[in-house]
Amino acid sequence: MSRAIQSVRGMNDILPDEGALWRTLEDAVASVFEAYGYDRIRLPLLERTELFKRAVGEVTDIVEKEMYTFEDRGGDSVSLRPEGTAGCVRAGIEHGLLHNRVQRLWYAGPMFRYERPQKGRYRQFHQFGVEAFGLTGPDVDAEQIAMCARLWRRLGLTGLRLEINSLGTPAERAGYRDLLVDYLRGREDELDDDSRRRLETNPLRILDSKNPAMAELLAAAPSVLDALGPESREHFETLCATLDGLGIAYRVNPRLVRGLDYYTRTVFEWLTDELGAQDAVCSGGRYDGLVGQLGGSDTPAFGFALGVERLIALMAAQSVPLADVSPHVYLVYQGEAAARTAPGLAEDLRDAVPGLRLLAHAGGGSFKSQFKRADRSGAAVALVLGEAEAEAGEARLKPLRDQGDQETVALADLPRRLAGDFGLPLADNA
Ligand code: ATP
Ligand code: MG
Repeated sequence: MSRAIQSVRGMNDILPDEGALWRTLEDAVASVFEAYGYDRIRLPLLERTELFKRAVGEVTDIVEKEMYTFEDRGGDSVSLRPEGTAGCVRAGIEHGLLHNRVQRLWYAGPMFRYERPQKGRYRQFHQFGVEAFGLTGPDVDAEQIAMCARLWRRLGLTGLRLEINSLGTPAERAGYRDLLVDYLRGREDELDDDSRRRLETNPLRILDSKNPAMAELLAAAPSVLDALGPESREHFETLCATLDGLGIAYRVNPRLVRGLDYYTRTVFEWLTDELGAQDAVCSGGRYDGLVGQLGGSDTPAFGFALGVERLIALMAAQSVPLADVSPHVYLVYQGEAAARTAPGLAEDLRDAVPGLRLLAHAGGGSFKSQFKRADRSGAAVALVLGEAEAEAGEARLKPLRDQGDQETVALADLPRRLAGDFGLPLADNA
């Protein structure tokens, strides 16, 4: 036998035992996003490398060292998407979705970053993302933050903290950048190597440093909020007041700058204390310059992305209630007449009771071995069809999870009975 091949480092298989967690999150996300009128858009995993260089920025960690970039067979440089906003904006411009109109969009799927794999940090990970175009805010800023809060409530997640900040307009940001560089130059001997390098390329990112040796230096740095002009200040104050009015608690963190280059004004993150160092489960903000920067007409925009693996880990840690994805019914049958009846019966029941999860035994075997599989399937009841029952047009219902006697039910009565037992609707023609 040859050696089995392993998965690529940092790329996870999501196995069926995590199915209920993922399903619960996916259902909640779709219904919450739809409740706010966001439409789903599905985007390619592969884009031209140039797109990310322009959108995310050449001097970001993502573009400098985290992208999966290669030449395709036609000689074009392409990259696996490290995030979703660039592709969403590219598609919006390409298909004329953004011109002079409001669009509220959401997307889902895997992202790829060549990072050092560790808990909560993978090379293939998943995001749900939301983008709104054509709205200057701050009402839509608050709307999206409220969407997150609703999602946490809907999932039953607790302990998520909201941090917000404003980076101002590009001009205000540039002014702040000069202030910050002056301050950091004055204390250059205290900077670590990474920060000294960033002083030339991307000084705001120094505020993002996780090096504890620099914490005191950064805490005393000038605040970006002091560099805001009157309009940016009003935008931020109105956002804060709206969040107050909605009863959404937040902390203003003037050190919050976010990893990507394209943000303007509002930025925010949702953090947890329960996942260790990888503590951000959601981040986003306003990016009014990006559509223009990618060749579209100037369009204000606001968006965020949720880190799915981190949310899944949090849901597991907090034992939130999960969607039941195990079968309702496991159909067990034996004998010639039963074997003739079973396939049609299973189909008829699925027709008659939409939503019924009926797992039909396959592969024969003794009743005893079939019941073993029925137990392992997690089904609530076994539907038992022996030779005598098949001849009589009946079946037995045997509870598998709780005690209780088995009962004999006429096949014709099964749809109503199962629909009642599992709280499912009957099909109109059943
Ligand atoms: P971090 O500071 O943790 O690196 P980030 O600022 O790079 O996060 P974003 O690009 O804003 O993250 O992505 C949004 C969300 O996606 C993050 O809040 C996080 O939950 C998740 N995320 C980002 N990178 C990874 C990764 N490599 N593995 C798993 N989840 C990730
Ligand atoms: Mg990162």
